[in-house]
Amino acid sequence: MPMDHALPDTLPVRWPAGATAPPAETDAALDRAVTVLRAGGLVAIPTETVYGLAGLALSESSVERIFIAKGRLSTNPLIVHVDGVEMARALASEWPVAAERIARACWPGPVTVVVPKAPHVPDIVTAGGPTVAIRCPDQRVTRELIARLGEPLAAPSANRSLRLSPTTAAHVLESLGAKVDLILDAGSCGRGIESTVVDCTVSPPAILRPGPLSATALAAALGETLAAPTTDPSAPARSPGQAARHYAPRTPLEISPSAAERVSALLRAGKRVGWLTTGAADARTRRIATSAEVVVVPMPDDPVTHAAMLYAVLHAIDKRSLDWIIVDEPPAGDDWQAIHDRLTRAASPDEAPTDDDASPSSSG
Ligand code: AMP
Ligand code: MG
Repeated sequence: MPMDHALPDTLPVRWPAGATAPPAETDAALDRAVTVLRAGGLVAIPTETVYGLAGLALSESSVERIFIAKGRLSTNPLIVHVDGVEMARALASEWPVAAERIARACWPGPVTVVVPKAPHVPDIVTAGGPTVAIRCPDQRVTRELIARLGEPLAAPSANRSLRLSPTTAAHVLESLGAKVDLILDAGSCGRGIESTVVDCTVSPPAILRPGPLSATALAAALGETLAAPTTDPSAPARSPGQAARHYAPRTPLEISPSAAERVSALLRAGKRVGWLTTGAADARTRRIATSAEVVVVPMPDDPVTHAAMLYAVLHAIDKRSLDWIIVDEPPAGDDWQAIHDRLTRAASPDEAPTDDDASPSSSG
């Protein structure tokens, strides 16, 4: 059984474009990861969305360790990662046409399908529910790991529950430390935010969580319009585990339609402020930026690069122990919906216990 006290090794992995096999160093890292996982241990895996905390999805004890390591509520189901459509279908008691279309058009990629679960998928994975969430990640090394195991991996984001998801191996180590047995390091995640989750058990299919693949992109793949995600974080959850507060830095965060005024007011009140601005800096922004009490971070005005760096920026700014993080309200539109969703959850009031006082059974 893996030890719970030593800090994990971080092994670099890569798969050069066009290569048919991994370089020797990556090959050895994959063998190590297989050994750790087969022994019931947990491996942090790179994906194109965020780093995952992986254990064998079909092993109840491995999955239980994931919940304990994260301090995750047992009512919050996990996404199961597969190396392709065939492995996905084997986890489903029924494979809806919508799941088939999404998988064929978008996998490997940042979209998760929710389908009726096969009896052999342990209840702990699905939080006791009749459906299972499945995704095939666009990360060659991780797909090879799953292929070598010959079985799927359950992998929620590799962070303590309710906190920011990790987009680098260093973020994983900071958040989970010795709770993970091995980290595979493929550098920064390309997409940077969690997958789009689509319920394929209803007609039309419904987006449960917005993500890198927009409703428009999915409608094109499906040939039909999807039901929109609820924009009200206090509405009853159709998707368990979608807590209002989630993906949150420790520093209080506020989305502001008039951020320059808000930042100025906070500075006048003697606060230290981080400010994520989107769009060209005007004279006023430049004047505010001269204050020693503010950290101004210009964010890209295209949603793809914005998402890719969002968590890394929030992780970095969170370390400065500022009083507030003020974020320019992102532009409207389908392509910005996932960023809106994550920022809204990060800004939601902190009613849940924090990492420091959370016990595995009491935090989500
Ligand atoms: P993450 O922590 O990013 O891995 O998020 C996993 C999320 O996927 C959960 O919080 C749920 O919102 C969603 N999810 C997982 N399994 C299911 C399921 N069976 N039905 C609906 N949503 C699910
Ligand atoms: Mg998560």
